[in-house]
Amino acid sequence: KQMERLQKVIAGAGITSRRKAEKLIEEGRVTVNGDVVTELGTKVTVGNDVVEVDGVPLDKEQPVYFLLYKPKSIISAVSDDKGRKVVNDFLPDIEQRIFPVGRLDYETSGLLLLTNDGDFAHLMMHPRNKIVKTYIAKVEGRPSKENLKKLERGIYLEDGKTAPAKVNVKSSNKSGNSSIIEISIHEGKNQQVRRMFEHIGHKVIKLKRESYAFLTLQGLEPGDSRELKPIEVKKLR
Ligand code: URA
Repeated sequence: KQMERLQKVIAGAGITSRRKAEKLIEEGRVTVNGDVVTELGTKVTVGNDVVEVDGVPLDKEQPVYFLLYKPKSIISAVSDDKGRKVVNDFLPDIEQRIFPVGRLDYETSGLLLLTNDGDFAHLMMHPRNKIVKTYIAKVEGRPSKENLKKLERGIYLEDGKTAPAKVNVKSSNKSGNSSIIEISIHEGKNQQVRRMFEHIGHKVIKLKRESYAFLTLQGLEPGDSRELKPIEVKKLR
């Protein structure tokens, strides 16, 4: 088997330049068979020694995490057999196969995470994790205080009771024929926000997810995306 210098192996895996690979080694972020190696000239056997950078094996596809400001009228899927636009059409062309973490309805816009990290996606969607998502809904009419209280306490939908929500009326237009309401929930039942408002007799006309845990759409326009920073990924886990 072929012996190679560690920095060359790291750079060769496509995760970084040779120079940066040297820095990673010197910073103690590289292990060979579980042991930290800081010696630049160290030789490793390709395909035999297990090299990890920040605990991630080199031969594993690098995980990537994107935040997308999903425009409305786009499908939260990787591809569509009818050729309609999907969320992946808005991301940079990368080697990894990424998929959305959960879904937003076709007509819903806003914050959507995408990744190739299945464990991460699973974790984000697990009910136990209680990640708070905040939506801005434009609804028909002006919901009564009583009805909004119901949403806050939880209501019975056909697939069960909703957990307590936070509800905040932003504005109602003068005639009272529509209102803008902010609602925060930590569950992800199918079409949950739309169904919650429908339950109290107010159809949702427009829906946007404006935040996901501590993440917001700040600085982004519909269709824009950015990679999550490692620190953000860490905080979400
Ligand atoms: N609730 C909805 O009704 N739709 C979404 O897309 C997200 C939450």
